[in-house]
Amino acid sequence: MLNLVSPRAKIEPPARTYRNDRGRIEIDNVGIVFDGDRGVHTAVENTSITIEPGQFVCILGPSGCGKSTLLNAVAGYVPPTTGQIRVDGEPVKAPGPDRGMVFQQYSLFPWMTVRENVAFGPRISGRGEPTPEAIADTFIEMVGLTRFAKRYPRELSGGMQQRVGIARALANYPRVLLMDEPFGALDSQTRAMMSENLLKIWAEFGITVLFVTHDIDEAVFLGDRVLVMSASPGRIIADIKIDLPRPRDGDLTVDEGFIRYKRLFHAQIRQESLKAFEQQNR
Ligand code: ADP
Ligand code: MG
Repeated sequence: MLNLVSPRAKIEPPARTYRNDRGRIEIDNVGIVFDGDRGVHTAVENTSITIEPGQFVCILGPSGCGKSTLLNAVAGYVPPTTGQIRVDGEPVKAPGPDRGMVFQQYSLFPWMTVRENVAFGPRISGRGEPTPEAIADTFIEMVGLTRFAKRYPRELSGGMQQRVGIARALANYPRVLLMDEPFGALDSQTRAMMSENLLKIWAEFGITVLFVTHDIDEAVFLGDRVLVMSASPGRIIADIKIDLPRPRDGDLTVDEGFIRYKRLFHAQIRQESLKAFEQQNR
């Protein structure tokens, strides 16, 4: 039989903007000390971590242990007192659109529509090809909010606002996505849906994600790797590879393997939470 399609004529898939070759995060001997009203406080104790491009890494730890501080240092909001953070070899000195950040509280511009919010980054960077709105629409579709593009944030539920936040961060084509308890204010069903949606987006882009949470289920469900942070002063006390199959959906959370990981983290987190509780009540 005549085969008209030679194997070499295979059409290459379109190049992914961030396919697993960018987004290495190096946290190199980083210590963060605050000198405040109540004296000197070590928020993060000498920490070294390397995160490979495309990895989904969760930082799990009790409240007040220094998770946000460490993430804010990667984002460039908090300067490390000692050591250095590099993204693809470049030292982090200030916040930049190469590091997309999604916070727990909704941080959209209330006076802008969904489309205007997401188009904002491409517009100010001047890299909005073909147009900032076209880029915005692509990412709004990806988070499933096309029908809401002309709405204002106040007209959306919390979960929808967080999806806009994710679209807005991605529209800058960042190397890494930094997420600080982004689903913390949502009800548990919405959280579960948001996690699944996030994993789909991540699978499509292969972007590096550094995701901070105090929720064990969330960390195990999402992560390739979970870093456990000790009670204050924060340092990484465990670095565990999550060997669960992908793609992952809600059924995984009742899987035996999933529960084994939960048990492992439960003991560690309980101990650290107790320490944190005692510290806070001293
Ligand atoms: P987590 O996100 O794990 O709950 P944080 O990183 O927010 O913890 O805080 C870690 C510790 O650092 C806390 O004790 C907090 O009070 C302190 N801290 C955070 N930011 C500052 C700051 N700007 N000045 C002084 N102390 C701070
Ligand atoms: Mg925090």
